Amino acid sequence: MAEQPRLLEGLDPEQRQAVAAPRGPVCVLAGAGTGKTRTITHRIAYLVQRGLVVPRQVLAVTFTARAAGEMRTRLRALGAGGVQAQTFHAAAFRQLRYFWPRVHDTGMWQLMDNKFRLVANAANKLGLSTEREDVRDLAGEIEWAKSSLIGPEQYPEAAARAGREPPVVPAQFTRVFAGYEALKNRAQSLDFDDLLLHIAAILEDQPEVAEEFRAQYRSFVVDEYQDVNPLQQRVLDAWLGPRDDLTVVGDANQTIYSFAGASPRWLIGFARRFPEAAVVRLERDYRSTPQVVELANRVIGAARERPAGTRLKLVGQRPDGPRPDFAEYDDEAEEAEAITRKIAALAGRGVPLSEIAVLFRVNAQSEVYEQALSDAEIPYQVRGGERFFARPEVRQAMVVLRGAAAADDEVDDLPGAVRDALREVGLTDEPPAGGAARERWESLIALVELAEELVAAVPEAGLRRYAAELAGRAESQHPPTVEGVTLASLHAAKGLEWDAVFLVGLVEGTLPIQHADTDAAVEEERRLLYVGATRAREHLHLSWALARAGGRRFRRRSRFLHGLVPDDHPAALPVRGRQQQEAQPRAKATTPRCRICESALSGTLEIKLGRCSTCPSDVDEDLLVRLKAWRGERARQLKVPAYVVFTDATLT
Ligand code: ATP
Ligand code: MG
Repeated sequence: MAEQPRLLEGLDPEQRQAVAAPRGPVCVLAGAGTGKTRTITHRIAYLVQRGLVVPRQVLAVTFTARAAGEMRTRLRALGAGGVQAQTFHAAAFRQLRYFWPRVHDTGMWQLMDNKFRLVANAANKLGLSTEREDVRDLAGEIEWAKSSLIGPEQYPEAAARAGREPPVVPAQFTRVFAGYEALKNRAQSLDFDDLLLHIAAILEDQPEVAEEFRAQYRSFVVDEYQDVNPLQQRVLDAWLGPRDDLTVVGDANQTIYSFAGASPRWLIGFARRFPEAAVVRLERDYRSTPQVVELANRVIGAARERPAGTRLKLVGQRPDGPRPDFAEYDDEAEEAEAITRKIAALAGRGVPLSEIAVLFRVNAQSEVYEQALSDAEIPYQVRGGERFFARPEVRQAMVVLRGAAAADDEVDDLPGAVRDALREVGLTDEPPAGGAARERWESLIALVELAEELVAAVPEAGLRRYAAELAGRAESQHPPTVEGVTLASLHAAKGLEWDAVFLVGLVEGTLPIQHADTDAAVEEERRLLYVGATRAREHLHLSWALARAGGRRFRRRSRFLHGLVPDDHPAALPVRGRQQQEAQPRAKATTPRCRICESALSGTLEIKLGRCSTCPSDVDEDLLVRLKAWRGERARQLKVPAYVVFTDATLT
C-alpha cells in the first residue's frame, strides 16, 4: 500500500492547530502568503485520512474556477481526491439540477451564459440606450443588486445608502431591472445569480429537501472568505442549516470586490457568531522574501482604517532577496519596453517565463505589454481579460478605421483623423467616469496613441499606413501560451504567486482608479496594490510612466508610492522637484541610469557598478556601446526619442 502523506509535516504550529482542530467552526485570519490555502487543503486531507469525514460529504468552495481547479489538484495529491472543490456557482448549479425537478415538477430552466441580450431588450422597451457599454453597465448594476440581495423595488433606497452611482436614474433602473427579471422568467431562463438565489430559496422553504441535502453534505470549507457577498453568505447559511461544521480562511486586507457587494464582515464576525470556534492567526509569510514582505507591510500599514482582525503583520520566512525596485518612465511605451528588457534579463538568468507576471489595474493596460513582448518574441498569456485585438470595441473600431482608410487620400495630422473616425464608435474627448464605458474608452484611446506613436516615427504617415500598421500588429501579436509571461489584472491575480512580479502603471487615475472618489473606494485600491505586491516570491518591480504612450499629458505617480520609495532612490524625489530638475538639463544628466536597460539606479552598489540589479553582468560591453551609438544615430534620423528600441528587423 502506498505510504500515506504525512499531513502535519511541513506545517508550523499554528497551521497545525488549524489542520488538526476537531470538526466544528474554524477560522484562519491571516495575511497573504501565510499558507491559508495550504492549511485548508491539509485540513480536509487530514480529516479524510483519519476517517473523521467522508470525502463526498465535504464541500470546499472558492471564488474562481481556476482556484477551485487548483484546490482539486492539491487535494488529489494529498490523498483526498473525492472531495468536491468548486466555485459557489458551480456547486449551486450541480445542486439545483438535482433538486429542481423535484421541487418544480419541470426540467431545470436554461442557464444563460450572459444577460446582455435581455438587459438590452429591457432597456430598449424603456427607450434607453442599448449601446454595448451602456448595457454592460446596467448588467453590472443588476449583478450588484442581486448579489446584495436587493430587489428592483428596494433598489433606489439601497443604492443611495450604499453610495452607488447607478448608470441611469434609480427609478428608471428599477424598471430596467424588473423588466429584465420578467423577460428572463418568461423565457424560463436563469442567470448566474439565480442559481444561488434558487438553491437558497429551496433549502430555506423545503424542509425535506434541506434534510436530504444535509445528509449528503456535512462539512464546508471556504477559501478567500473576505470576498463573500450577501447572496453567497445566504447560500452558505442555507447549506449549513443549524450546524456549524465550517472552516473559513481569509485576509480582510485582501478584500477587493466590495464594489461588487463583497464584505469581510462575516470573516471578521466569525468568532462572534461561533463563540466556540477555533480561531487561528498566521503571521509567517512563506511566499515572499523579507524585502517584499516589508514593502507589503508598509502598503497596508498606511491604510486609513484597519478594523480589528485586519491588523496582521507579516513576518518573512524566506532568505533575503533583492530589494523591491522602482522605476519612472517618460511614457507607457518606454515603460513596457524597459520591462520587457528586464523580463528578458530575468529569463536569461534562468527564471522561467511562467514564473513572471506583469500586473495592472485595468485590462486596457495590457496592449502595450502585449506589443512589447511580441516585438521581443517573448511568449505571454493574458489572464482574466481578452487580448487587446480580440476585444469587441477594438474589433469594431478596426472596421471603422479600415473604412476611413479606404476613403482617405493620405493628406496629413494622423492622430486627429483617427480620433475623428473613432467618434463614430463612441470615443469622447473626456473619459467617462467609470465602469465598462471607461474600459472601452481606454481601449479606444490606446488606438489614438498608436497613431501618435506612428507619426512620431513616420511623420508623413496617413490613415492607410496606420490601418496597415494596426492590421500588422493584430497579426503579429503572439497567440496566448500557457508557458509564457502572465499579463493579468490585479483582480485576476488574487491567490496566485510568481517568482517575479512587475506592478506597472502606478499613476493617479489608474491606481487609484479615477472613479474611486470616496475614501472607501480609495482604500480598496490600496488593498489591490497590497494584493499585487504580495504575489511576488522574490523579484518585485514597481513602475509608472509620466505620460501615456506617445502622449504629452503629464500624469502623477500614485499616491500609494509615497513612503515606499527609499530615500536614496532617484525616484524618491517629489514630483515637483523632479520637474524642476528636468527643466535644467545639467541636473537631469546626473541621474544615474543603468548602462544596460537605462532604468534609474537605486542604492550605492548599483550606482558604483553602473547597472541595476536585474541586468546581467556579462553583457558584451563593446556591442552595447555600438548599439547605443547606432540607436542614437537612427533615432536622430527618424526623429524619435532615443529610448525607442529597434528590433532585429529594423536593425538589418
Ligand atoms: P493568499 O492570501 O495570497 O491566498 P495564502 O495564505 O493562501 O496566500 P498559500 O498560497 O497557501 O498562502 O501559501 C503561500 C506559499 O507558501 C505557497 O507556496 C505554500 O506552498 C508556501 N507555504 C505555506 N505554508 C508553508 C510552510 N509551513 N512551510 C513552507 N512553505 C509553506
Ligand atoms: Mg490563498
